[in-house]
Amino acid sequence: MGQEKICTSCGVRLVGRTETTFLCPSCGKVLIGRCMNCRDQSVRYKCSECGFVGP
Ligand SMILES: [Zn+2]
Ligand SMILES: [Zn+2]
Repeated sequence: MGQEKICTSCGVRLVGRTETTFLCPSCGKVLIGRCMNCRDQSVRYKCSECGFVGP
């Protein structure tokens, strides 16, 4: 099974249309997911690997 992508901020499942995913800008190891809502409201995310917090 493929890994499920979730929004790092709110935990909602990402179905891949309006969401965005990118690697942590700090450690580059963790895939950060952002749903449209969190992206729209600039909700912070936190990297589970290095603890980086970003907008
Ligand atoms: Zn979200
Ligand atoms: Zn990181």
